[in-house]
Amino acid sequence: MHLPFFLARRFVAGENLSQAVSKVKELNKKGIPVTLDLLGENVTDRETADSTTREYRDLLDGIRDEQLDATISIKLTMLGLDIDTGYCQDNLHKLLDKAKELDQFVRIDMEGSDYVQRTLDLFHDARKKYGRHVGIVIQAYLFRSREDIAALAQDGVDVRLCKGAYNEPPSLAYKNMSEIRTVFKDYAAELMKSTKNTRIATHDDHLIAWTKRYAEENRIPKERFEFQMLYGLRLSTCEDLVKEGYRVRIYVPYGTMWFPYFSRRLRERKENIWFILTNMLKR
Ligand SMILES: Cc1cc2nc3c(=O)[nH]c(=O)nc-3n(C[C@H](O)[C@H](O)[C@H](O)COP(=O)(O)OP(=O)(O)OC[C@H]3O[C@@H](n4cnc5c(N)ncnc54)[C@H](O)[C@@H]3O)c2cc1C
Repeated sequence: MHLPFFLARRFVAGENLSQAVSKVKELNKKGIPVTLDLLGENVTDRETADSTTREYRDLLDGIRDEQLDATISIKLTMLGLDIDTGYCQDNLHKLLDKAKELDQFVRIDMEGSDYVQRTLDLFHDARKKYGRHVGIVIQAYLFRSREDIAALAQDGVDVRLCKGAYNEPPSLAYKNMSEIRTVFKDYAAELMKSTKNTRIATHDDHLIAWTKRYAEENRIPKERFEFQMLYGLRLSTCEDLVKEGYRVRIYVPYGTMWFPYFSRRLRERKENIWFILTNMLKR
């Protein structure tokens, strides 16, 4: 499906890096670092996976050249996880070699449940070699996450905790918002107690207020955790948090393959659909 880009521009910073750079600089000026995400997923041929690996490496050079306050997030299915696990691992290591050379950081996004075990295996393996240059994401809605969080917290891993964005079956994941919030808080508490950098990725006021309260009551300094939100959502909340002295990072996606990301954002929140429809009518 090829839809015009103007539909996605609320959530996607541009179709190429040069379009995204000006948006990133504006956020950096406000004291907000970003995570850049070159959009795309589920690559099925080696040629595309190879060129994506090169693009990710070039992105790290671009961040240095443009002097952006930015790290990157990647999806392993873009590096060939659907083709062959060993091949994907080679691509991941090529990227992490570059990240290490530039003293950069690469976070591996978490995709649908079919990929979770392989993603964690490749992450643990990469962490042995690349240490603080690589981080992971855990989705609170998955039943398995309690054990995953316990192991990652014990190892002091840099984890981004989110609710989870994929449509998982009830045999694998909580479907009810209050249950998801309850486990999210359990995992956030465990990470904040044991790790130096917990990333709380949510737009949910209830969880944001809980995190602030929990940190205060347990004397966890503001430098030990970071709120993360998505580009196009809740910018004034991010600015307010920065004014209050909290660390905030915005996840900035860009690229031509924006449709799956865009449709997840629409599914999540009916207000997002209204926003797009109103903008279409305004044109
Ligand atoms: C930085 C970042 C990285 C992510 N990475 C991943 C990943 O790797 N893998 C993955 O599966 N998922 C990822 N996600 C997506 C995540 O899992 C959720 O699907 C998404 O964030 C929606 O959940 P939520 O907690 O933000 O709020 P929701 O559950 O969508 O909303 C809960 C409540 O929050 C408030 N709220 C939410 N949005 C708004 C808004 N725009 N304006 C006003 N109030 C609002 C409302 O009160 C709403 O009822 C990421 C999310 C972020 C922020």
